[in-house]
Amino acid sequence: MRYLQGNRIFPMHTSPVDDHVLVLQDDERIEAILPASAIDPALIEHHAGYILPGFVNAHCHLELSHLLNVFPEKTGLPGFLSLVIQQRNAEAEQVQQAMRDADAYMWQQGIVAVGDISNVADSFQIKAQSKIAYHTFIELFAFDPARVASLMEKGKALLAQANGFNLKASLAPHAPYSINEPLVEAITTYCATHGLPTSVHMLESNDENELYVQSTGLFRKLYREMGLAFDQFFTPTGKTSLASTLPWFHKEVPTLLVHNTIATSWDAEWAEEIHPNLFWCMCPNANRFIEDRLPDIPMLQKEVQYITIGTDSLASNHQLSIAAELQTIRRAFPEIALQDLLRWATFYGAKALGMQDRFGSFEAGKRPGVVALETDTPDGSWKVTRISRHT
Ligand SMILES: [Zn+2]
Repeated sequence: MRYLQGNRIFPMHTSPVDDHVLVLQDDERIEAILPASAIDPALIEHHAGYILPGFVNAHCHLELSHLLNVFPEKTGLPGFLSLVIQQRNAEAEQVQQAMRDADAYMWQQGIVAVGDISNVADSFQIKAQSKIAYHTFIELFAFDPARVASLMEKGKALLAQANGFNLKASLAPHAPYSINEPLVEAITTYCATHGLPTSVHMLESNDENELYVQSTGLFRKLYREMGLAFDQFFTPTGKTSLASTLPWFHKEVPTLLVHNTIATSWDAEWAEEIHPNLFWCMCPNANRFIEDRLPDIPMLQKEVQYITIGTDSLASNHQLSIAAELQTIRRAFPEIALQDLLRWATFYGAKALGMQDRFGSFEAGKRPGVVALETDTPDGSWKVTRISRHT
């Protein structure tokens, strides 16, 4: 047994407690949280900072890790996507090494579970060997409804490959500007049948709404560059991208909506009414990088049930650290309580990925990993220390 004490313990499923000790079994399962007075003081390990379960990174693209420091900031979303399409290819060994480094860095930053987007199989072996638990979202996109059947076959083949590595995996549509109704229907029917979560990039830039409202904006330009005759398949709806596409999703499938940079209170309230299993994923450092703005997180906190935290990829971020994302939110919106931020980054992330039986809180019997978080450091950046060794 280990007896751990910090400045405060955040169990996540209940309110934080002071003057208590977290009791960890030898296999790092949670035994109990007990008053410090009940434990022999000689047995207690003291740690600087707050004690909390390991972080859950709800949105990442490990396979883009080699694009660290490659792209300029503040290009806007269509400009950014155009760069990724042109430059994502690189030497295989460089791609593998960058993914290994990124995985090791996330582990060191106290991350225990990741929802990771894959377009190809490059990352599967690294994820299978990692100490981090990954849920892989095989991401599919197609504007042309005639391509849906062949794309689903390709997606299921990649999924089988991921399962062959013993990875948990499901299918996910890419974003409103690259999907259609039959594709979302096929993907979310598959996820509903197999009890799996899905994910979609949503409300990331004004251009996304412009496209759906009146078929204008920079996405048109991007499609021209790609030689895509999208007018053949696409009719503007006069509504936001969320209002246009969310009705296509099966309601019983836990669904991560990633980014929400331009979400309004109308979007949030309406979406919560029509879909009971939404998880609104914030990637603030990537939003700053690409669009130079942040979602209205205090508004979302009022309107929605579940918020989660993601890092997005190293193509649009300087590090894959949940603590760094939380610190960005804290600086921009100091009115949000630390306990809420931490719950989004642990408990709700685990729930979104269907990993709540193991991660996200200090409930007895779970093996959620244990980290210490110092928010009061000499250089001002939040510091994470991993206390558990294997989880
Ligand atoms: Zn993303």
